[in-house]
Amino acid sequence: MIYDSHMDTPSQLLRLRNVETDNKYGHVDFPKLKRGGVDGAFFALYTPPQMAPDAATRYALEMLSATYDIADRNPDIAAITFSPAEAAKNREDGIISLFIGMENGSPIQENLSLLRTFYRLGVSYVTLTHNGDNAIADAASEGKKWNGLSPFGREVVKEMNKLGMMIDLSHASDKTFWDCMEFSKAPIIASHSCCRSLCGHRRNLTDDMLKALGEKDGYVGINFYPAFISSRFGEDPAEAALLDKAEEVDQYWRKCPSDPERTEAWHKMQDSLLEIWRPGVSDVVDHIDYAVKLAGIDHVGLGSDFDGICVGPKGLEDVSKIGAVAAEMSRRGYSKTDVDKVCGQNLMDVWQRVINCSELER
Ligand SMILES: [Zn+2]
Repeated sequence: MIYDSHMDTPSQLLRLRNVETDNKYGHVDFPKLKRGGVDGAFFALYTPPQMAPDAATRYALEMLSATYDIADRNPDIAAITFSPAEAAKNREDGIISLFIGMENGSPIQENLSLLRTFYRLGVSYVTLTHNGDNAIADAASEGKKWNGLSPFGREVVKEMNKLGMMIDLSHASDKTFWDCMEFSKAPIIASHSCCRSLCGHRRNLTDDMLKALGEKDGYVGINFYPAFISSRFGEDPAEAALLDKAEEVDQYWRKCPSDPERTEAWHKMQDSLLEIWRPGVSDVVDHIDYAVKLAGIDHVGLGSDFDGICVGPKGLEDVSKIGAVAAEMSRRGYSKTDVDKVCGQNLMDVWQRVINCSELER
């Protein structure tokens, strides 16, 4: 069983990714999801923090439309999925569940009605912030605007509890995290985050946070991005420069994805990134082990961040290889039940617990 709590494929759809074919470049498409044995994944509607709210709302809707389109064109392969119960039914039918998340709450502007409409359209979690502080809360990379959740952010938390939407604190500042732990009646998730004690990135979770997530019946999906797994990644100055360059090439391509020259530059960059030192599957499983020790076996999962990261770890270059995590866990002595929990069941279970806390039926 494999359910992943974070992939950035919707923004790749707007960059003209054809997910019906097996792409040489890119982490996620239907053939790779099938080969990887993936039962379902959260597709995140990611809007960059620099984008003004009106543009972000429009962009989120465009990504959502593109996601609906690929599901509608391939009804025998994938379906937009609104609940864990639907996911279980899809799994029986051999259909991949596409769950919708929103990464950066900026598209809801300061309007709870827009939040409700995104929920009606299938958005089941909101990552409150990306790397910039927004109207809802402070982010890990800034953390200056509100000292945690804004007054509007408290309203958002309340409304999400009422609707049964998951509150996702990956990218949030430490203070935002603790505010949400205090104000949310429902369990909290971090859809794609790692352990700060193993890799000192400010966006990774501290031991206290991991413990608190477990105690509050929440969930952390371990991110595969090499920079969150190991501080050795990009430490070499030449490699760090290449990573900066990769970001530039990505931005340039994003502005005009139909330009063959820009696409080619992105492809070349993808090849170069595979050459630099990267952590391996075993390093990813070290984060799983660590999170399991602190949060508990029922509260850890996979949040690969495929298609949102410039390169994967060694042995996890794209989603077709995601089964390597389960294999390494088994090798370390996890039971089949525990492997299934971490590779998917825990995500379905935390979602169901959040729905159970809500006042509505989904
Ligand atoms: Zn992210």
